[in-house]
Amino acid sequence: MVSPNPAASTPHEPQSGLLAAPPWQHGQAVALLPHVLRLTAPNPGLMTGPGTNSYLVGETATGWTVIDPGPDDAAHIERLWQAAGGDIRLIVCTHSHADHAPAARPLQALCAQRGGSRPPVLGLPSAPTANATSHFVPDRALADGEPLTLHAAQSKRRHTLQVIHTPGHAANHLCLLLAQDGLLFSGDHILNGSTTVINPPDGNMTAYLGALDALDGACAALGLGYILPAHGHVMDNARGVIAKLKAHRLAREAKVHAAMQARPQGTLDDWVVLAYDDVPSSIWPLAKRSLLAHVERLQSQAGGAP
Ligand SMILES: [Zn+2]
Repeated sequence: MVSPNPAASTPHEPQSGLLAAPPWQHGQAVALLPHVLRLTAPNPGLMTGPGTNSYLVGETATGWTVIDPGPDDAAHIERLWQAAGGDIRLIVCTHSHADHAPAARPLQALCAQRGGSRPPVLGLPSAPTANATSHFVPDRALADGEPLTLHAAQSKRRHTLQVIHTPGHAANHLCLLLAQDGLLFSGDHILNGSTTVINPPDGNMTAYLGALDALDGACAALGLGYILPAHGHVMDNARGVIAKLKAHRLAREAKVHAAMQARPQGTLDDWVVLAYDDVPSSIWPLAKRSLLAHVERLQSQAGGAP
């Protein structure tokens, strides 16, 4: 659910600062807009691309919201605090995977220790299906559609992020919308340079595709043009990216369906060879997780479940 925005019919001007691609650097925050900073954590890898993007939204007058503080890395946490000039008001986790949420409590503690206030850690609690390394209890659970607003004390300056629940990659995944600038902070639901893994049981393909539709609806209603993922570069043409992603998922599902029909008694190991014949076999162990998510979805459809 998203609330209507009077600016919805006004397409946002292209914001070249968002798309300029400075080389990845973990040592300091990059200003994508004057009030939107990106600080990439020093955890590059197969699953994390150049590293987890922590974003900061705010300004000196309002203080800052940190989105996805990242892994528990002391230097990264210190740099987040520095980038915000020591004034962090909110810490929001898009979901509780190990490359996104573990820095939340240490960052909160650092803020308190340095004499600032103690910013709340916000998000959704991990579901019982999450594995132990993703266990997470926020200070407060965020409601779908909830606005998170930072106000300046002395002026009318404000920044409002709107929460949208997006289960699928993780049961406790959410995205954040910054309507004033036409931005969607997509966490791991939409990535740049890689495909989101849907890992049952905490991951769910039907929920994932439903949340993609919800995000498309939000982009249409709010005139959002840019996607800021937790891994990779900013993407423009947000609705086009979402449409392409959904088509890609459904094309994969058609291959999974064909593989299951060709080998009705087969196992995931048999089907992955057929359904993922276009990706290197080194990726198959990972692909099998998303394959299972497709299989579960196809079986639930065949069984008449909603
Ligand atoms: Zn991630």
